[in-house]
Amino acid sequence: MRNVSVIIPAAGSGKRMKGFLKRKPFIHLCGKPVISHTLNVFKGIPAVKEIILVVNKKDLNQAKKYFRRGIVKVIEGGSERKDSVYNGIKAIQKDPDIILIHDGVRPFVTKAIITDSIKQAVRFGAAVVAVPVIPTIKSADKSGFVNKTLDRSRLWEIQTPQVFKRGIIIKAYKKLKIHATDDAMLVEKMGRKVKIVMGSYNNIKITTPKDLKIAEAILKSPSLRARTK
Ligand code: C5P
Repeated sequence: MRNVSVIIPAAGSGKRMKGFLKRKPFIHLCGKPVISHTLNVFKGIPAVKEIILVVNKKDLNQAKKYFRRGIVKVIEGGSERKDSVYNGIKAIQKDPDIILIHDGVRPFVTKAIITDSIKQAVRFGAAVVAVPVIPTIKSADKSGFVNKTLDRSRLWEIQTPQVFKRGIIIKAYKKLKIHATDDAMLVEKMGRKVKIVMGSYNNIKITTPKDLKIAEAILKSPSLRARTK
C-alpha cells in the first residue's frame, strides 16, 4: 500500500461565480458545502494519509473551524492555482511516495478514478485524469480565422486528480516558474511522460452558476451519478 498525500486547491477568488456571497468551495450543494462533498470522497481511502486543503485567505478561519479534523489540514493559498498547490506541497508532513492534486470544486470524482490514477502514477511516475473531447475543435489565428481543425480522436479534456511520484512533482514545482493551468504541464515541460487515465464526464469543475445547477441535477439523480463515463 502506498502513502498518498492529497492537496486540494480551493483558494480561487471565484470571479466567474457572480451574484454569490460565498466563494465556490463554500457554496452549498444539497445542504453541504461543495468542498465537503469533495473531501468526503477522499476520506476513507486507506492509502490517503493526509489531505491539505488550500483555501483563500478570506476563508481561512471558517475553513479551519469546519474542516480541520482528522487527516485534514487547512492552509492559505496564493494568487494563482499554481501558487496554492505549491503552498500545499510545502505543507506536506507525512513523507508520501505519491502526491495527488485535486481541484476542490470537482466534487464528483469517484473512489475508482482516484484509485486508478494512483495506480498509474505508481507505474509511470505521472498520471492525469481526462475524458475524450466530444465537440469538433479548431484552432484560430489572431484575427479570428480558422487555422486548422484538430484531430479530435487524439484530444483529451484534462481534469483532476493529477497524480505524481513525490520527487517528480516537487522537482517540477521548484524548477519551473512559468504560468501553468495544471500540474502536469510543469512535468511535461521537464520532458517527462504523463499517462492519461480515463475520467468521467460527471467530474465537472464547478465554475459558473450554470455548473451549480448541473451539479445539483447530478447529485439528485441516481442514474446520472451511476454514469461514470
Ligand atoms: O481557476 P481554476 O478554475 O483553474 O481553479 C481550479 C481550482 O484551483 C479551484 O478549486 C480553485 O479554487 C483553485 N485555485 C486555487 N488558488 C488560486 C486559484 C484557483 O486554489 N489562486
